[in-house]
Amino acid sequence: MARIQTPHRVRGTQDIFGDEQRRFAHVLATFERVRALYCFQRVDIPVFEATEVFARSIGETTDVVSKEMYTFPDRGNDSLTLRPEFTAGLARAYLTEGWQQYAPLKLATSGAVFRYERPQKGRYRQFHQIDAEVIGAPEPAADVELLVLADQLLRELGIEGVTLQLNTLGDAETRDAWREALVAHFEAHRADLSEDSLTRLAKNPLRILDSKDPRDRPAADSAPDIDAYLTVEARAFFDAVTAGLDAAGVAWARNPRLVRGLDYYRHTAFEFVTDRLGSQGTVLAGGRYDGLIESLGGPATAGVGWAAGVERLAMLLDEPVAPTIDAVIVPMGAAAEARATGILADLRRAGLAVDMAYKGKMKQRMAKADALGARKAIIIGDDELAAGMAAVKLLADGSQRAVPFATLAEALR
Ligand code: ATP
Ligand code: MG
Repeated sequence: MARIQTPHRVRGTQDIFGDEQRRFAHVLATFERVRALYCFQRVDIPVFEATEVFARSIGETTDVVSKEMYTFPDRGNDSLTLRPEFTAGLARAYLTEGWQQYAPLKLATSGAVFRYERPQKGRYRQFHQIDAEVIGAPEPAADVELLVLADQLLRELGIEGVTLQLNTLGDAETRDAWREALVAHFEAHRADLSEDSLTRLAKNPLRILDSKDPRDRPAADSAPDIDAYLTVEARAFFDAVTAGLDAAGVAWARNPRLVRGLDYYRHTAFEFVTDRLGSQGTVLAGGRYDGLIESLGGPATAGVGWAAGVERLAMLLDEPVAPTIDAVIVPMGAAAEARATGILADLRRAGLAVDMAYKGKMKQRMAKADALGARKAIIIGDDELAAGMAAVKLLADGSQRAVPFATLAEALR
């Protein structure tokens, strides 16, 4: 009979295990803690949405919508799409769930997102994002709060060498004027542009500014900055954001070439960038999207937010994340093992992380305790049973002391 073949893992997906998984979990736990400090509410939304949620809000001309979405008809022939990001789904929920009554609403979420991309280090087809948004707040204070939150998250993760790059895309009037100037500039440099940028010129000219194609750089670098086109209001908004960052002690650098591809972006655009991940150097990105909710058919509603890639943040953690195990019980002999089962249950009920090593000789069991990353080993043999005391060994230095069974939980704390 032919051997049954093991199915392979789909390209661009990952099985996250061991140190990699602990780093991943550490990023999520830190995000959960920090978002609560900033009084952002946790929300969970569906993994798939009606395709139009993304098509209408992210925009048909973006890479995400035109090339990267996992879109499929379901069995009832409705077109569904696996979420490629969170913002559109959160905006949809804000409208369909009537969350306007809570505005301004500070939301945080995390989970898997899906994009059909060429997989490489730091770039996957199923990856994970953490995401923070403020919906219904047109004030620059919301932009500042989100940026300070992002900065604190990176600090608490101990991630260094990341810089906050900041730009303004102005208000609608500013943006239209700047766009016109950009089109005129790039029209004059048509011959120097890549094929992709010629397409962008017709559909999404701002996007040429952050093109990674070296052929585009001279024309992109010599393009006019937005500054000459900023209205008084747009200038005041940007100044308020930078003043807020300065007041909160968050370092930033102006990057006049930083744009967001989507038409609904207004005012603030930002990226936290590192040079440690090659061309996958953007770890956290976002901006203000005051036109998004309208594009979904809702009333004019301000919004600002960011998303960060959990895998990219996890890769930047300097230290491996050690498993946190308080102790491993090492029973020797059948009677000790029976007693250890009760002690193990008691210690776990007391809130301690404890495992049992019950295979092999003493030496192998101690090696297991070490491998699990435990701080202490609780050794129980016939002598210990007779005395009602366990031998508690500190694995770091090998020192050992006798602890009565009844007080083990205290001794481990
Ligand atoms: P990039 O320029 O790297 O493609 P992007 O502009 O498409 O990024 P966003 O849509 O702003 O990225 O997503 C926010 C964050 O999600 C990124 O800063 C990055 O950390 C992460 N991210 C984006 N795409 C991927 C991916 N395919 N695999 C892993 N992480 C990703
Ligand atoms: Mg992308």
